[in-house]
Amino acid sequence: MDGSRSPQTPPVLILLGPPGAGKGTQARMLEERFGLVQLSTGDLLRAAVASGSEAGKAAKAVMEAGGLVSDDIVIAILRDRLAAPDCAKGVILDGFPRTTTQAEALDQMLAETGQQIDAAVLLEVDDVKMVVRIAGRFTCGACGEGYHDTFKAPKVADTCDNCGAQQMTRRADDNAATVMSRLDAYHEQTSPLVAYYTDKGALRRVDAMGEIAEIQNAIAALTESVMR
Ligand code: AMP
Repeated sequence: MDGSRSPQTPPVLILLGPPGAGKGTQARMLEERFGLVQLSTGDLLRAAVASGSEAGKAAKAVMEAGGLVSDDIVIAILRDRLAAPDCAKGVILDGFPRTTTQAEALDQMLAETGQQIDAAVLLEVDDVKMVVRIAGRFTCGACGEGYHDTFKAPKVADTCDNCGAQQMTRRADDNAATVMSRLDAYHEQTSPLVAYYTDKGALRRVDAMGEIAEIQNAIAALTESVMR
């Protein structure tokens, strides 16, 4: 990877980091600021579970236990989504890849359309603090804005600052026991991707323990540099 990108090919960014590192929050920021499309395999899988599809049925119990859904299912879901026309604007992958097999499949999918990864951004955080971060988080079910009991409470209880809806939701897998399993899965199966993308010259590290706005600025600057 030589750091230069053909202006004809849409940007492809990966957000790497353990659960709770802020991948979803940062991906939404990049979506708004740069017109890129957030592709969250967690969101796609939750939609599959809600729809009762075969893939959703196979994924449900694994997700509730905090494990990783099989590579075959996740790769198929991602491949379908990546082929949708809106992805031609460029994508931010949030929560994919999570295994070396998925990373290799992604390289192959992108190569088929003459694309490559512009950057794999590692959000570096303190694991122990992630449990507290995750256990307090919730989301507006109407617009997707993220909140936290301690760090970002809405101005009016149970009411979204962004859209005014009163539809706050908490993820079923955001409880302390499941978070520990999700962190284990990250260390065992996903952390080898740090070496994978380092070897490709694509890894960029961002300290993700500070203020959300500062982290956003660091990631935005990095995104600007790879989109040039
Ligand atoms: P997330 O919303 O990214 O935290 O993902 C929630 C859950 O969905 C994870 O704990 C996994 O069970 C599953 N999941 C999401 N993305 C993947 C992936 N790339 N590979 C395997 N499982 C995934």
